[in-house]
Amino acid sequence: MSHVEFELAPKFANTPLGIEAEELLDKCIDCGQCMVKCPTFRLLNEDEESPRGRIQLMRKMYATGVVDHELQQRLDHCLTCRSCEAMCPEHVPFGHLLDITKSYIESELPRSWRTRLLRLGMRLVVPFRGRFGLALFLGRLFRKQLSPTLRAKVELPVAAAGPWPDQPRKRRMLVWTGCVQPSLGPSINAAAARVLDRFGIHLETGDEGCCGALSLHMAAPEESLAHMRRNIDALWPQVEAGIEAIVMTSSGCGAHLRDYGKLLADDPRYAAKAQRITELVRDIAEVVAAEWREDLLPIPPRAGPPPRIAWQSPCSLQHGQGINGVVENILKRAGFKLTLTDYPFLCCGSAGSYSVLEPELAAGLREAKLKTLLGTRATLIATGNIGCQHHLAVSSPVPVRHWIELLDETFAEAWPH
Ligand code: SF4
Ligand code: SF4
Repeated sequence: MSHVEFELAPKFANTPLGIEAEELLDKCIDCGQCMVKCPTFRLLNEDEESPRGRIQLMRKMYATGVVDHELQQRLDHCLTCRSCEAMCPEHVPFGHLLDITKSYIESELPRSWRTRLLRLGMRLVVPFRGRFGLALFLGRLFRKQLSPTLRAKVELPVAAAGPWPDQPRKRRMLVWTGCVQPSLGPSINAAAARVLDRFGIHLETGDEGCCGALSLHMAAPEESLAHMRRNIDALWPQVEAGIEAIVMTSSGCGAHLRDYGKLLADDPRYAAKAQRITELVRDIAEVVAAEWREDLLPIPPRAGPPPRIAWQSPCSLQHGQGINGVVENILKRAGFKLTLTDYPFLCCGSAGSYSVLEPELAAGLREAKLKTLLGTRATLIATGNIGCQHHLAVSSPVPVRHWIELLDETFAEAWPH
């Protein structure tokens, strides 16, 4: 197969966007190998809902200069899960191509006032810890007035955080707090702190906010960069003071932080600092895998049969960061039985703002995912991203938990303090 020829429309020729888009689109040879890995194509069975179909639509837009609502809708349906990237022989960076194209379309094509209001409301509330906490409180208070999708989300129970270790330790890492996780899953970072404390590492918090992924995927790149710069300023004193790593318990944020260096490469004030932040990022699974010495912390055999766990690897972990098999090995070492699931590469439908903006598609993807996860009689689903956890929990018949909480409980049973 050869590369597909096309010429930029005059309005894109010699523009930074046109030049970048042409270079990325030129990589695609239309082979279609990515299609089988695309959750929306598998659900809807239409070419235009596949990566190749979306690339063809984007090519048409850059060649004709015409932006229409069909294109916008097809691109909105994409989860930015990047499952297609893992399969592509030409290494087309689909996620980035989508982000730059969506930002352009957003500036050209007005949406309905209802959609604009919803999108603006999300961008003004979700990335801010305090505002999100207040919105959640009000949502619970007025749950009857909410849409079924939002009602189901706000009604989910929230586990208490439990104690945060305060023993002095020589080694220090920083845990990413982010925006929604403190309200939806305060127990996750506390569990991570307790686990790392057993390895002699103190986990401290910082004053950062939203990582910026939500704004970027909602076609607001400047807003995303503003979040990123603010985070760098907030964390820099701790970076200079010598923290060993920035530990991520939410893989969605982790995938975005790994791109800070690239996304701010042209900013003379922030490029070097952004690159340093990227270098410090570690998913909690990478830290546990590197630090857990079984000769010092062995897990005694369980009394009964081990719990059967279905592992749901978030797209941002497996496709976004290329971390595969690490959590699975940790859970097996901790004595859990992992069930085999079909199509583990498929997205659950959460995808940041997607489950709110595209509720019907997100629900369809969730049901398909739950079918594959629960087909093997799992008694629990483990995941590594708060968005997936909440989205799946809305209709899962079994509990959905972050895997670090399971490890924390296993350690606490094996060696109570
Ligand atoms: S990013 Fe995910 S949903 Fe979008 S085209 Fe690729 S595989 Fe499909
Ligand atoms: S696998 Fe890559 S080259 Fe082939 S159609 Fe998909 S994006 Fe294009």
